[in-house]
Amino acid sequence: MSFDLHTHSEFSDGTDSPAQLMKSAEAAGLAGIAVVDHDTTDGWPAFAAARPAALTLIRGTELSTHVRAAGRRVSVHLLAYLFDPAAPALVRELQRLRRDRLERGMAIVERMVAAGVPISRQQVLDIAGDAPVGRPHIGRALMEQSLVDTVSEAFATYLSPAGPYYVHKSDMALLDAIDLVRHAGGVPVVAHPRSRGAARITDERRLREWVDHGLAGIEVDHPDHGPADREQLRDIASRIGILVTGASDYHGTNKPIRIGQESSDGDVVAALAAESSGRTPVLGPAR
Ligand code: AMP
Ligand code: FE
Ligand code: FE
Ligand code: ZN
Repeated sequence: MSFDLHTHSEFSDGTDSPAQLMKSAEAAGLAGIAVVDHDTTDGWPAFAAARPAALTLIRGTELSTHVRAAGRRVSVHLLAYLFDPAAPALVRELQRLRRDRLERGMAIVERMVAAGVPISRQQVLDIAGDAPVGRPHIGRALMEQSLVDTVSEAFATYLSPAGPYYVHKSDMALLDAIDLVRHAGGVPVVAHPRSRGAARITDERRLREWVDHGLAGIEVDHPDHGPADREQLRDIASRIGILVTGASDYHGTNKPIRIGQESSDGDVVAALAAESSGRTPVLGPAR
């Protein structure tokens, strides 16, 4: 039984509707999925409504956080599973992040417009719809204008942090985010710890510190991770005694990744459920 514990829908920067996402999961032979749209729980009711009876569903979100290391801010993504979506402190923070994403997305578009790139604020807003604005929405606008062929190409060019249009996204400190998730009854897991900048700082010492603050696990099997990182992370996790997850970080057609490309076993799902307060249940067949 395989579970893909990190997928995105059109409620953030994926391209699948809830129904399409469930269909993709079933077609891949998955027993279940977790949907973790960035900075929002807006899709939760729709995911529950679209869930086929045989598919297990875990609802969560993915938060962008930072860790200060050697005087620099390093970006670390945090998966939050099975928390209470009405927890006031978390709701406030999600609202703030969404406002900041809108301002930041529009600031990136303004820079492009000022440089003569033929896209518009309205175009990006139409593409994002009700979702928190992310760079993939801008990437799709660039695609619509035939300026790039894929969203990945946009990330390598126009949307690159090293490029002239990049604007920093606001986030929260990792330890604050872990607190927020735990206080909402949820289960915090570091997403793709060896991806990009995070790779430099996700050593055993720091992971132990984060676990002391309430971190429950780390994503080990992820498309960004090579064999050496996976082995190292697995060793660290077994020494510390934390959860190890596997997941594809599926974004529909925004990323060249198949749903279920990486996955977790049923015992990981059971462990996530056991660590949560139970206010948000795992939906579907018990495994
Ligand atoms: P942002 O959060 O606005 O800075 O945009 C980064 C997000 O874009 C991350 O969640 C990535 O997973 C997502 N993303 C979607 N498609 C791609 C892609 N083709 N290349 C890189 N990142 C992507
Ligand atoms: Fe994303
Ligand atoms: Fe991420
Ligand atoms: Zn993700």
